[in-house]
Amino acid sequence: MGENILVLDAGTTSTRAMLFAPDGRLLGVAQKELTQHYPRPGWVEHDAAEIWSRTLACARSVCAEATDGGVAAIGITNQRETVVAWDKATGEPLARAIVWQDRRTADVCAKLKEAGHEDEVQRRTGLLLDPYFSATKMRWLLDHEGPVRAAAQRGALAFGTVESWLVFKLTGGEHLSDASNASRTLLLALDGAQFDLGLCELFGVPVRSLPRVVDTHGDLARCDPQWLEAPIPICGLVGDQQSATIGQGCLSFGETKATYGTGAFVLTNKGGDIPRSDHRLLGTVLAQSGGVRTYALEGSVFVAGSLIQWLRDSLGLISSAAETEALARSIPDSGDVTIVPALSGLGAPHWRPEARGVIAGLSFSSGRAEMARAALEAMAHQTHDLAEAFAADGAPWTGLRIDGGMSANDWMAQDLADVLGMAVERPDFVETTALGAALCAATGAGIHASLEAAAVAMRGSARSFEPAMDEGTRRARLGRWRAALAAA
Ligand code: ADP
Repeated sequence: MGENILVLDAGTTSTRAMLFAPDGRLLGVAQKELTQHYPRPGWVEHDAAEIWSRTLACARSVCAEATDGGVAAIGITNQRETVVAWDKATGEPLARAIVWQDRRTADVCAKLKEAGHEDEVQRRTGLLLDPYFSATKMRWLLDHEGPVRAAAQRGALAFGTVESWLVFKLTGGEHLSDASNASRTLLLALDGAQFDLGLCELFGVPVRSLPRVVDTHGDLARCDPQWLEAPIPICGLVGDQQSATIGQGCLSFGETKATYGTGAFVLTNKGGDIPRSDHRLLGTVLAQSGGVRTYALEGSVFVAGSLIQWLRDSLGLISSAAETEALARSIPDSGDVTIVPALSGLGAPHWRPEARGVIAGLSFSSGRAEMARAALEAMAHQTHDLAEAFAADGAPWTGLRIDGGMSANDWMAQDLADVLGMAVERPDFVETTALGAALCAATGAGIHASLEAAAVAMRGSARSFEPAMDEGTRRARLGRWRAALAAA
């Protein structure tokens, strides 16, 4: 058929198709925005039919442009935890998809916590009782959407995360989900091959509405030729953060990636060990092949690039995010100004939703440059706390690979290396999420023998930032951060 890899990257704000050559060269990209529906405060919905039609349009456009090579395999990566409900018989959505950001099931989660279920749920799934994950969203749809309930009674209900929905449409009726996405639902035990009956009962989700759990890479399904003119095999399925981890080549124990976008997502490869956390980090499936899993430990901080946006849009201190770099370089230090970016509470490893932001150490000499520098320094401080939590949970970082919009800031990358005391690597090709799905699909299709071999063949060069800060300065920085944190 062909030799190239078609990646469908169905994100939160947009969906894209990208075509990769077997050596990792990017041959084409098509992208379309997705409509965000906010019917009430705290609610976020997508139109699943739109996700499908726009993803298909992108796929067709990128395939039409690339005349050379043809497509050997499809890889899909996607926004995780978002729930789609559809009718197995008609293939039509039964309600709007509930997006991962949606908080409507907060009270259900609180009740389950009060009833003492969190320890057991965390031990079995690696997750916490939070509306972020899929299970309580599924139950909400059954309780509040008539067509979903009616389909369940007819035995026609299909639930799935976004990759599952796209596979159903592409194949004309295969209902499956990969283990990395399934591990974000609260319905998969980390050591269970398929969705767990006890967990389904706890959350009130009928197991027969759920997909079959499959590998993240292998010969997983075949595309109906009506869509892309050939029965192209689907050989990679992987949630976006796991995909970025694979795309960063974090394939051995301890290898870690951090994505600095609006928030920051950090994943460390845990090898075959099922992750257990005493610091409220999440255990998740990184990849699965032949039923054998690799796991990851995951931590997220809520505020990263959004702090820079806040300096720009609410305070008007800067006119562009990139300006922070020159401002930070223009002074020798922040003059003791320290920002704790708890603008929407503190995420891992502190988990203090009630915490609020702090700007400490202000004096008459504090100006725009000090504020910009303190904002960037906060990224290294937050990452340092995560590094300590990961180490305490048995997953010490052997290095850090960074990506996301904020990672373009060289000053921040160097500061991360300095404060963490370890080399920080930034790939020249920053689309690591799409690249991860390409590595999965290329491996699944047998173009490369393993993810490791695919990473060697398809990943490009990277720039390394080496730690250079003296120990006294580093300690002083962390002391100032801890003092400010205590005030948050
Ligand atoms: P997301 O995927 O979450 O939408 P991106 O990965 O596109 O986010 O990153 C965008 C964020 O990165 C914005 O919040 C922006 O403020 C920040 N950002 C972008 N460029 C820079 C820069 N050079 N320095 C600091 N922050 C930056």
